[in-house]
Amino acid sequence: MLTVCCRICLKQINFNQMLSLFQTYKGFVIRDALLDLFNIQILPTEMVSTICKECVAKVCTVRHIRDEFIKQDERYREMLRSSPAKDDSDEEKLPDQKPDIRTDPSPTVESTTGEDKPASVEDTDST
Ligand SMILES: [Zn+2]
Repeated sequence: MLTVCCRICLKQINFNQMLSLFQTYKGFVIRDALLDLFNIQILPTEMVSTICKECVAKVCTVRHIRDEFIKQDERYREMLRSSPAKDDSDEEKLPDQKPDIRTDPSPTVESTTGEDKPASVEDTDST
């Protein structure tokens, strides 16, 4: 039985379980996906240019997750754009009353002109 090495997991696997890194699988080129998702660069001159089905399945999963996350992120941004920032948060807050400058009884007491000396009792009967 002919076995080949998988470029990704490095296992020796039966040849008929292998795919070429340069072939298209479920609408994407495996090599491109590896570069895109994992930053693994496969050169055309690579000695080992095969990948096992197990690894391809993993690549598929990661690709799927990434697509999903990106899509959700776009939806999120869309939501932010379409809903104007709601600002009616005055339900709990009491109308914020500024403490008015209280009209105190005016501190400038102007009625101190009259001398309030205790009336000097001078009418002593010293006559
Ligand atoms: Zn593998």
